[in-house]
Amino acid sequence: MSLNYHYMQLPREVIVGNGTLERIPEVVNRLGLKGKALVLSDSQCYEIAGKKVSEQLEKSGLTPNFLLVKSMMVDDLIAVENALKEQKPRVLFGVGGGTIIDAAKLSSASQNLPFISIPTTVSHDGIASPLASIKGSEKPYSVLAQAPMAIIADIEIIAQAPWRFVVSGCGDVISKYTAVKDWRLAHLEKGEYYGGYSASLALMSAKLVTQNAELIAKKDIEGLRVLLEALISCGVAMSIGGSSRPCSGSEHLFSHALDLINAKHAMHGEQCGVGSILTAFLHGSNWQQIKATLQRIGSPITAKELGVNDEDIVKALQMAAEIRPERYTILHKLKLNYDACETVARATGIIS
Ligand SMILES: [Zn+2]
Repeated sequence: MSLNYHYMQLPREVIVGNGTLERIPEVVNRLGLKGKALVLSDSQCYEIAGKKVSEQLEKSGLTPNFLLVKSMMVDDLIAVENALKEQKPRVLFGVGGGTIIDAAKLSSASQNLPFISIPTTVSHDGIASPLASIKGSEKPYSVLAQAPMAIIADIEIIAQAPWRFVVSGCGDVISKYTAVKDWRLAHLEKGEYYGGYSASLALMSAKLVTQNAELIAKKDIEGLRVLLEALISCGVAMSIGGSSRPCSGSEHLFSHALDLINAKHAMHGEQCGVGSILTAFLHGSNWQQIKATLQRIGSPITAKELGVNDEDIVKALQMAAEIRPERYTILHKLKLNYDACETVARATGIIS
């Protein structure tokens, strides 16, 4: 008899606010962490946050060591794993943007170590999710690694990052409207597991960012907080769902396809936002609202604004389903040819 179970791995501590790095010693204490710690960062994030993290770790009684990474290619990941094997830390901290957090998540998971996420940007939902992606790997999409044991997000530090990161984060959250539609479709037509709670949590994040679009566009610190909490909730939605399903549907496949065909692509969330306009149209849902919200925030809503030519948009939409044949979405259902994809891109005003 097989036991049917559902595994959820959730962060144990989440701290969001101003000056939260000073809370590191109490988090370390509550989690009972002792001994050596490795901190993964890049040179820029080290200046912005890494130094402070180092001071706080010493106050915590941990012995921190730093490792600076440049990118998240397969070779970089191997270097991080080798450092973990050599130094044998008890915990790994990721201090940086999406790339650093992903590197920390994957390498800590492969070495059975806990990892703590200290994001310096809000460009996508990876800051709190159990999934990560590796550039240059066979799979352009993210794979299951592990959830952070704790997330310590300092809004004062995040506010220093370029505005475009915020725009990308908003696009990633707003794209959950179509991700959830695709998940529901896969449940109804293919009998795939669908977690109502997980889906609702992702949708709620998209709604909150939509409702607070004006506040976010004004670059208000409260707007940034809404976005940050929405991104963390999306990460938790994936933990509860046990996969990226609540947060990644056909619009994400479109973004991955653009990454593959267009070397100089835009940011992840910007591409997902445009993808969401296209696939909301295909679902027969309110694509105009998605487009209007993205526009309000200042996120790209045309091929030109994305910096991509019209033909690449059409090609990406056509090839998106092939990237993950097993992940059923509206694109797998409709199997659109090139002309049909072009019609959709024109009808939504993405290309003219
Ligand atoms: Zn995403």
